[in-house]
Amino acid sequence: MILSTDPATGTELARYSPQSPQEVDGVLDAAAEAQAAWRRRDITERTPLLREMARVLREGRDTYAALITAEMGKPITEARAEIDKCALTCEYYAEHAPEQLADRPVASDAAESAVVYDPLGVVLAVMPWNYPFWQFFRFAAPALAAGNGALLKHANNVPQCALAVEEVVRAAGAPEGLCRTLLIEVDQVAGLIADPRVAAVTLTGSTEVGAIVAAQAAAVLKKQVLELGGSDPFVVLADADVEAAAATAVRARYTNAGQSCVNAKRFIVEEAVADRFVAAFTAAAAALRTGDPTDPETAIGPMARANLRDTLHDQVRRSVDAGAVLALGGEVPDGPGCHYPPTVLDHVRPGMAAFDEETFGPVAAITRVADADEAIALANRTEYGLGAALWTGDLDRARRLTRVLDAGAVFVNGMVASDPRLPFGGIKRSGYGRELGAEGIREFVNTKTVWIG
Ligand code: NDP
Repeated sequence: MILSTDPATGTELARYSPQSPQEVDGVLDAAAEAQAAWRRRDITERTPLLREMARVLREGRDTYAALITAEMGKPITEARAEIDKCALTCEYYAEHAPEQLADRPVASDAAESAVVYDPLGVVLAVMPWNYPFWQFFRFAAPALAAGNGALLKHANNVPQCALAVEEVVRAAGAPEGLCRTLLIEVDQVAGLIADPRVAAVTLTGSTEVGAIVAAQAAAVLKKQVLELGGSDPFVVLADADVEAAAATAVRARYTNAGQSCVNAKRFIVEEAVADRFVAAFTAAAAALRTGDPTDPETAIGPMARANLRDTLHDQVRRSVDAGAVLALGGEVPDGPGCHYPPTVLDHVRPGMAAFDEETFGPVAAITRVADADEAIALANRTEYGLGAALWTGDLDRARRLTRVLDAGAVFVNGMVASDPRLPFGGIKRSGYGRELGAEGIREFVNTKTVWIG
């Protein structure tokens, strides 16, 4: 049974029976058929669908945002911003996909030769609950524009969102069957990946599940894009604007109750300014309003599931046992729901859970370092490589250091965030491939050489 539960209260909202193998088979047939026709349309005939998707999203903004908040506990203000970003991304690709996928003439021995970009087919998207609309639309907008079909296996704690995103695409006028949600259990995913009607797979989620899905796709030689976990460093050097860094750091850590792959998780601060940074950061974190996610004033709602909170609290306890200093929070509150307070751990070192593991919740780990060299060394001392933030007043130094930080994105004097105009993805155990930007739309295409003698 697939359950929709409000994590703020523990109340069950809805339940669904997983679709039967026969139903899934019908969905696959319809998707393959719809995609075969969709790919034959010129890209300029496909992009109007994206504009309509943006319109439907904006029209239903409050309803969709409320659904996100109800199912995974995101504060309503952030949920509305999530819908806005989905719409913006649909519009971005509606405008730019034709030029990003335009034929590219290349001089060769041929009378005429070019690189053209054809779709791959139907792409399976296995997506997480943390941005239940965004994770889907940032994949689907470019994939559909490129001429692919899309099947969504969403996280099973957000089934209402999963059905709603399918409805957005349908209401926007997509051909029947081109984009569908599958309400299925995880043990049905391997069969889908192996199915000849599925051409490729994209997964956003944990590194552990990424490795499982990658192996399944590799066994049948299918293209994959993997956007996995992260333990992003937020480096503050002694010449930085420390108060501005601390204010941004709080947003970078506690957005979405800390449940984002690119939340800053490890704050690596030069000793000379560490006391000032910790004081400003802890005061701002303590001031965050927690509680009811439907209240527009709330900054931190509940975590999405009880088991995620248990894992996080265990990481906090193990870090404190290993010598980290609890500067704020760290106690599971009484009462219903999956709430966890903003928590700050100071004096965190490598070897402690909060440094070595991904902390997916409102827990900040602060590590004090002697100098910039140690800061970079510790920033890179992680098995992940998604994003990194660097704060310094010396932009020449910043430009040099961006090149030695091992991450898919480095943001200087800012916080890491995705932007439809810029590619997004990781290295190391954060996965491979890119989403968004021109690189993102070229992941699920056949880069085809055409040679005419
Ligand atoms: P998972 O990686 O388990 O889930 C992500 C998606 O993969 C969901 O749709 C899930 O479905 C599906 N899935 C799970 N197991 C399998 C499998 N064996 N084969 C195919 N698909 C599978 O993440 P969790 O929600 O359990 O979160 C655990 C941790 O993962 C977090 O604490 C965080 O560290 C990381 N994470 C990272 C995210 C990111 O944005 N990079 C997002 C979410 C989590 P189902 O819901 O049915 O299990």
